[in-house]
Amino acid sequence: MDGISGAIDCIAAISTPVAQGGVSMIRISGEDALTVAERVFVPKYPVTDIKQMGGYTAAYGEIVRGGQKLDDGILTVYLQPHSYTGENVAEITCHGGILVTRRVLNACIEAGARPAQAGEFTKRALLNGKLSLTGAEAVIDIINAESDGFIAAAKAQRDGALHRRTERLCEKIKATAEEITAWIDYPDEAEDETEIVTADWAAAAKEICADVDGLLDSFESGKVLRDGITAAIVGKPNAGKSTLMNLLSGTDTSIVTDIEGTTRDIVEETVNVGDIRLRLADCAGLRETGNEVEKIGVEKMMARLETARLIIAVFDGSRPLSEEDKRLIGLIAGKTVLPIINKSDLEEKLDIAYVTARLGEPLTMSAKHGEGLQQLESAITELCGIKHLDPAEGFIANDRQRDCVLRAKNHTDAAYNALSAGMTVDAAGAELEAALSCLYELDGREAGEEIIDGVFKRFCVGK
Ligand code: GDP
Repeated sequence: MDGISGAIDCIAAISTPVAQGGVSMIRISGEDALTVAERVFVPKYPVTDIKQMGGYTAAYGEIVRGGQKLDDGILTVYLQPHSYTGENVAEITCHGGILVTRRVLNACIEAGARPAQAGEFTKRALLNGKLSLTGAEAVIDIINAESDGFIAAAKAQRDGALHRRTERLCEKIKATAEEITAWIDYPDEAEDETEIVTADWAAAAKEICADVDGLLDSFESGKVLRDGITAAIVGKPNAGKSTLMNLLSGTDTSIVTDIEGTTRDIVEETVNVGDIRLRLADCAGLRETGNEVEKIGVEKMMARLETARLIIAVFDGSRPLSEEDKRLIGLIAGKTVLPIINKSDLEEKLDIAYVTARLGEPLTMSAKHGEGLQQLESAITELCGIKHLDPAEGFIANDRQRDCVLRAKNHTDAAYNALSAGMTVDAAGAELEAALSCLYELDGREAGEEIIDGVFKRFCVGK
């Protein structure tokens, strides 16, 4: 191809969904992004020369291919290093038709760019030091996030929350490992002093182990934020389960009626409660029944109870506890249960002390009138264990990261055991070095190409 020799490893891709829409955007990144842009874009206003454009500026003009006008569009320019990738970036926005967008991309390819691979823009951001590997992983989490809580957490993560937490931990490990190495290199101290320093290192290793454990624990909270949890609403017919579920989901998924036993099957709905996504199952009433259809519903509910991470048990506060209520309480006591005394707008007739003694402090509310919804949200957050997760502190967000920390833990535990048992310090030093390697892998500093490629495979083209 002639005239394109200047485009040093420039990549281009359609960064908006390939579908009909108002506008589409084609992103070009690389040292010669503006050279490629000059070949496909003729600026008209407010400048007529792309090379005159500063970073973060835009121009209106014509998109051309082989001298032919393809579309009108807007070119936005970012100059290195102040761009997403850290390189020069040109973004061309055109009309949102699938065909026109593909034509603009093809024009960019003909002008010297090559088609970007999945996640390649973000990979360049990583290679140019704009993001850590865990920050890059958070980008895909933001794209896939399905709850406000997880979006906020993933953003903190992209901005380096886990990276900073990992760095602090690495600094601690490095400091102790270096002291040990120095001691090994200059072992001319008196015998009794060896015991003192070994005790100091054991104390330092203990603190390191606690930090590693804390990091591992954050995985569960992060998982709850990302994936949500399976929950079940149980209670006898007419307690108000469907009403509560509808209140949470804001729709009319469940049939709400006052004919007992209407909810015959499990209705599942995903709802966002505060920061958490609940995969919520409204289960059939727990009464003994001869009705075959209802029997199946009861069996399904029992199975769901076994797998649910949270059980929301609804009681009708306007009626005394029935045998059925007591049977349900017996079944779920000991599991993670949020007991709710519903119908707080009516006169209270239920023995609340009985419920409290077996299931813990219940929440009083009126599902019909939406009273107590906020307390319900905060109780669910507390029970799911994410109340104490501070996303700004960073958390383990996926299995790859968890695997690195688990391996680091094996090494830090071994280092602590060696130091506290007064064994040779060489072994402890080696274990700490090995733990460091695992954490560097977590952060991407020592991650091989295969690991990095594995991360970016999850991305879409154009990101
Ligand atoms: P389910 O069988 O447990 O799913 O119960 P439903 O949600 O179908 O509710 C049964 C009846 O109780 C319906 O007539 C609801 O309108 C009513 N109900 C639900 N919650 C409340 C409440 O907080 N106060 C009052 N007064 N009635 C309620």
